[in-house]
Amino acid sequence: MTLLHIENLQVSYKTLRGEVRILDGVDLDIDKGEIVGVVGESGSGKSTLGHSIVRLLPYNAKLQGKILIEDFDVVKASEKQMYSLRGTSVFMVFQNPLNSLNPVKTVGHQLIETSLIRHQKEGKKVDKDEAYRESISALKDLRLPDPENIMKRYPHQLSGGQIQRIVIAMSMLLKPKILIADEPTSALDVTVQAQVVKLLKQLNSELGVSVIFITHDIALAYAISSRILVLYGGQVMEDGPSEDVIKVPLHPYSQGLISSIPNINKSEGKLKAIPGSPPSFTNLPKGCRFYPRCEKAMDKCREQVPGILYKGNRHLRCFLYE
Ligand code: ADP
Ligand code: MG
Repeated sequence: MTLLHIENLQVSYKTLRGEVRILDGVDLDIDKGEIVGVVGESGSGKSTLGHSIVRLLPYNAKLQGKILIEDFDVVKASEKQMYSLRGTSVFMVFQNPLNSLNPVKTVGHQLIETSLIRHQKEGKKVDKDEAYRESISALKDLRLPDPENIMKRYPHQLSGGQIQRIVIAMSMLLKPKILIADEPTSALDVTVQAQVVKLLKQLNSELGVSVIFITHDIALAYAISSRILVLYGGQVMEDGPSEDVIKVPLHPYSQGLISSIPNINKSEGKLKAIPGSPPSFTNLPKGCRFYPRCEKAMDKCREQVPGILYKGNRHLRCFLYE
């Protein structure tokens, strides 16, 4: 069952240099219970995609296209409707999680409130003690030492990594239908990262929460998700089952991302970085956005923008597969 349907999403930002289109023709369908990894280099538009789904874009953004969460129309909804959607249907853990917490309330206050909101929405009456216990248990699951003490602190008294885990704890208390986690583990030690990945998987398998896991790290996306969507310059270049995308990447950009993963078991074989850098949105190449960095570029790639092709269970934006 399709939970989230995105079709021809276009997001532009108004800037001093005029309107700059960042996301251009993004399609994405997510089923109930799926974990999708959204992968791409910094600046490829991953966060913009996440912010579009919860409609928390900066003031200078323009959003066009279709975003449906079940039958709810995110693009057309009123602010009030969006407010009630966020948290119940969809929750986003921001890349900069400090923005998600209220600076003048303690962590405990905010977690307890979150737990109470969820119970209220489920029609259950729960007292504050129960909500407190639930909050402590969520903090423990996220391996935050001394959770009783953390509950008493204000956001500014905690580190970035601690706050990130508190916001993830919040998502666990809310149990939304779709959880968008934007680089949720980038500020964490690898051991804590592994625990967060495990908890997100658990949230998915036990409660059927669909997860959109945004990361620049394709190996991490593979560890958590059943499907991988590769973004480049604001467009989807490849979308398919994780196993297939990792083992047999088809798009030259996905191939480049995979050959730049370090392999601890192999001492021979140098890492291969993708030459060049991502395109500037104010000066996009005329044809395929990736062609200036692509080893397999053909004449056509310089001139024409490839459309989306369907190859088995994969979506590809590349003339090689026409
Ligand atoms: P990612 O998360 O993949 O690193 P982002 O979605 O954050 O990418 O950003 C994509 C592009 O949009 C970047 O070039 C960034 O500079 C630009 N951008 C993001 N927010 C704004 C904004 N409010 N105004 C103008 N440009 C923006
Ligand atoms: Mg980002």
